[in-house]
This record gives sequence, C-alpha cells and structure tokens, in this order.
Amino acid sequence: MPYRAPVSDYEFLFRHVVGFDQVAASERFADADADVVSAILTEAGKMCEEVMAPLQRPGDLEPARLENGMLRTSPGYADGWKAIAEGGWIGISADPEHGGMGLPMTVTTAVNEMMSASCLSLQLAPLMSQGQIEALEHHASDALKELYLPKLISGEWAGTMNLTEPQAGSDVGALSSKAEPNGDGTYAVTGQKIFISWGDNDFCGNVCHLVLARLPDGVPGTKGISLFLVPKFIPDEDGNPGVANDLKVVSLEHKMGLHGSPTCVMQYDGAKGWLVGAEHGGMAAMFTMMNNARLGVGGQGVGSAEGAYQHALAYALERKQGKTPSGTIIDHADVRRMLMEMKADVFAARAILLANAVAIDMGTATGDPEWAARAALLTPIAKAFGTETGIRVADTGVQVHGGMGFIEETGAAQYYRDARVTAIYEGTNGIQAMDLVGRKMTDGGEAAARLLDEIETHAESARARLPELAEPVWQATETLRETTEWLVAQGDMTDRFAGALPYLRAFARVLGGHYHLAAALADPEGPRARLARFYINALLPEHAGQLAQAQNGAGDLFALSADELAA
Ligand SMILES: Cc1cc2nc3c(=O)[nH]c(=O)nc-3n(C[C@H](O)[C@H](O)[C@H](O)COP(=O)(O)OP(=O)(O)OC[C@H]3O[C@@H](n4cnc5c(N)ncnc54)[C@H](O)[C@@H]3O)c2cc1C
Repeated sequence: MPYRAPVSDYEFLFRHVVGFDQVAASERFADADADVVSAILTEAGKMCEEVMAPLQRPGDLEPARLENGMLRTSPGYADGWKAIAEGGWIGISADPEHGGMGLPMTVTTAVNEMMSASCLSLQLAPLMSQGQIEALEHHASDALKELYLPKLISGEWAGTMNLTEPQAGSDVGALSSKAEPNGDGTYAVTGQKIFISWGDNDFCGNVCHLVLARLPDGVPGTKGISLFLVPKFIPDEDGNPGVANDLKVVSLEHKMGLHGSPTCVMQYDGAKGWLVGAEHGGMAAMFTMMNNARLGVGGQGVGSAEGAYQHALAYALERKQGKTPSGTIIDHADVRRMLMEMKADVFAARAILLANAVAIDMGTATGDPEWAARAALLTPIAKAFGTETGIRVADTGVQVHGGMGFIEETGAAQYYRDARVTAIYEGTNGIQAMDLVGRKMTDGGEAAARLLDEIETHAESARARLPELAEPVWQATETLRETTEWLVAQGDMTDRFAGALPYLRAFARVLGGHYHLAAALADPEGPRARLARFYINALLPEHAGQLAQAQNGAGDLFALSADELAA
C-alpha cells in the first residue's frame, strides 16, 4: 500500500509544539541537532515507504505459519527485517557502547510510528527487541550485556517479552511459571506462556526471551516474580548460537488481524535462563521493557491512524458520487467531517506521544524527578489515547470508503483489524486508565497539577493573539483540574476507577487542545491554525461529557446485579 512518511509534520512538532529544542540543547543529546534529526527521519521514512509499506498486504494475506515446528514468516518479512536492522533502526536510542546510536527516544518514537504506519505486523518485531535492549541496559549483568546487546542492537538476534499465561493476563501476579537454580549461576525455567509476539522467526540467528517466572522461595503475587533471559539457542563460548534450549513454539494463534506477526504459545521445559535484575525483582526489571513498549504501542496506534487517514484521503479524492464542486466525495460535508476528525486527532495523539518521549529524554538528560514524573503521567495517556485514536481513525477510514471499506481488497479494513489489538496488549486501556488515576496520582495529583498549570499559562499567553482558541483551552483545563481534584479526594478506589477511562480521554482531549493551540501560534494564518480551530471547536468539547462521566462514581455501574445484567 502506498504510504508517505510525514517527515515535515515531525519536524514541525519537534520545533514548535513539543519542545524538542530542550532535548537537543542538553549535553546528553547534543548530537541530535535539527539537521541530524531531519536526516534520520528522512532516511527512516524512505525505508518505510519503499521497503515496509509493500509488506503490509502480503503479511495479511499470507500469515506466519508453523511447519513441522519451524516458524515461517510472511513473504518478504526477512528482507524487511534486514532493512530495518541494517538501517540501525532497532538501536536508535540504544547505548553507543554496544552499537546503538544513542539518540533521544523522541527520534525513536517518530521512526517507530512511521514503521507502524507502513507495516504494523513487522514493526512489532523490532519494537520487542528495543524494549528488551532497554531492560538489559538497565538491569542485566555486565556479562549478559556484553554478549547480548550488540547482537540485539544489530538485529542479528531478536528479543521477545513473556508475561502472559492462560490464568495470568492483566493479573500478572497469578503466573505459575517456575525457575529453579541449576547451581552454576543459571536457572531452569519451566512453564507455558501464551500470546507471545514474535516468539520465533526464520530470519535471526537467535531469539532471546525475557521470561517472568517464580523462584522456589518467591512469595505469591507480583513481589515473588523474577525475570530471566532465556535464549532459543544457548550461546557457545564464543558467543555464537550453540545447542538448542529446552523451549519450543507449541502453536500460533489465529487472529482478527496483525496476521504477519506470529503470536505464539511457548513451552519452556527446564530451559536454561539467566537472571536479569535482582531475585524477586522481576517486575521492576520488566517494567523498563513495559514502559518502553507502552510508548511504542501508543505509537502503533498513531501510525495506524496515519496510514488509515492517508488511505481514506486517497479514496475520497477519487471516488465520484453525487454532485460536488470537485465531482468526488471529498466535497460532501460529512466526508469532510470524517477527514478533519481523522487529521485533527492524528495530530493530537502524535503530539501527546512525542511530548511523552520528550519528557523521557529530559528525565534521562537532567535526572530531574519532575521530568520523570511527567513521563510517568503521560505514558498511560499516550498509550490509551494513541491506540484509541488508531482504532477510531481506522474505523472512520472504513466509513469513508463506503461499501468498499468492508471489502478486504481495498486494505481499509486491515488498518482497523490490525490496530484493534493495540488497545488490548501491553496493559489494556482500562488498566492504563487505572494506572493514571491510581499509581500516577499517589503524589496527590501534583504532577498532573504542574502540567495543567503549564497549559493554562500557555493559554493565557496566547489570549492576546488567538483569544477564540486560547479561551476554550484554558476553560477546559480548569474543568479538568476540578475533576482531578475530585478524583484525588476519593478514598474509595472503585469510585476513581469507575471514571478512569473517561478521565483519561478528557485529559487527552485537553492536551490535544494545548498542542493544537501551540501549532496555531506557530502558523497563525496557515492550515495548522485552521485545523486547530476545528479541533478546539468540534472535538475539545467532548471533554465536558467525559469529565461528567469521570465524576459519576461507581454507584450507577453496580446499580444492576449480575443477574439483572443477564435478564
Ligand atoms: C496479538 C496479541 C499479542 C500479544 N503479545 C504479547 C506478548 O508479546 N507478551 C505477553 O506477555 N503478552 C502478550 N499479549 C497478551 C496481552 O498483553 C494480554 O492479552 C492483555 O494483557 C490482557 O490480558 P488477558 O487477555 O488475559 O485479558 P484479561 O486480563 O482477562 O482482561 C479481560 C477484561 O477484563 C479487564 N480487567 C482485567 N483485570 C482488571 C482489573 N484489575 N481492573 C479492571 N479491569 C480489568 C481487562 O481490561 C479486559 O477488558 C498479547 C495479546 C495479543 C492478543
């Protein structure tokens, strides 16, 4: 499917909207000046347009399959992986000491989004490696780092994450996989993991699994879980893949979408593994990978939205139906509504995602806990709003196509089917919202209040130039502040959780207004200001209904008994 990498949009957002100049001005990321970033985004965009986009349809039509225990990936995927690896796109933000480029996460986030837009199924493979690289950088022993990081960064080997078991999905603490010490510093890992993305492939020399399991003295729940690196082939003394480990792919799932990505049931039968992080400290170590993946999955949502938007726009420019000035459906008001909603929301979700990445980079560059708190606050919003935007925009994309949207050969439905899982994996969006109003507000809502202060100050400073845009953003922020204070004051967590997702959506709406306003200020006479006006007039008002729902408490949700729900 044709795809045009939106490089100039990233450049605009970096420069005028999300404050990337602070990142580039830091000592840590001094190399990431505007020219370097533009060159990287252009090069990555080219690879996405020329190599990855042509793999989108074949992956859907010819899914990965298991043949006599050997995994066969979709046609062209091996070449796609090679192009991603050779371009250095796996290790953009990885430590240069092990072969990475050491560039900011903001750059990785933009590149990952382009890869997601062009071929989501394949992009999930490097995303898993990136998360594993970051987890190993932070938590592995020096010996493991020396052996694994260069190979993961170069793409010679690939990484996966193994949390889920049949009885342990959102409730990771319920897992039953076990690890026994072998007495030589290694461990024997036994158990079954389900839904493991890219659990195997036929294009890497080794597949390295990060597996959560419980040691014999591990207490029940998340506090008793440890993390192990379990490779498909045990490295020999030269670090090359040696004998096969005691693990296998039992079967592949048949899925609604994302067909090119093999989703594996993995069986570990005393497989040799190495501890990553402290004994019983597995969740802390895995959280490094999970946070990386949450940002990455938010980017999968935004990428899906961008791909679906481009696809729908191309169709609307060609399809003739009814009398319009241009003769095509693009001039019908309802089709315009759909396209404007899509474009305005892609911008909002992308800005939130990149602002999240900027906060991560600033935390890394400065060590300032306020940046870390900002990043932590934005992560569930970027994940959930990014993925909801991906699904909503892809759904609208089907609608723009009319009946042809329901016919597979146009490819419009694939964006929807592929994107649908992004709201489910890497912590469902409901779990993200609970994280936002729970763990991320254990500071009494301070990090949220700091962000809302900044948004209001920005809106106040914009009042003189763009009063009709600045005022609604300021008002919406004030309403969000009131609900935030109400939420924090609720002692009963069920009342907070009841409104968590509407609250997260409203927060995203307000952030979207803030970033659209920044875009309008940078381009007051141009199309960005007109898009901002549409967003602020038509989409921002949704926050009011969402916040009303957020403050409704749990009472009404439990007003019908389970029997009455079934009646
Ligand atoms: C295609 C695909 C790829 C995947 N890849 C991986 C992978 O690579 N590695 C891996 O480890 N896992 C992977 N997963 C698993 C994925 O992360 C889980 O499916 C997800 O975490 C949800 O768990 P579950 O499916 O058991 O749903 P459940 O936990 O059973 O949830 C069912 C519903 O209940 C809600 N719910 C559950 N608990 C709570 C709660 N405490 N409060 C409120 N609501 C709750 C959920 O939000 C959801 O709506 C993948 C899944 C899919 C479908």
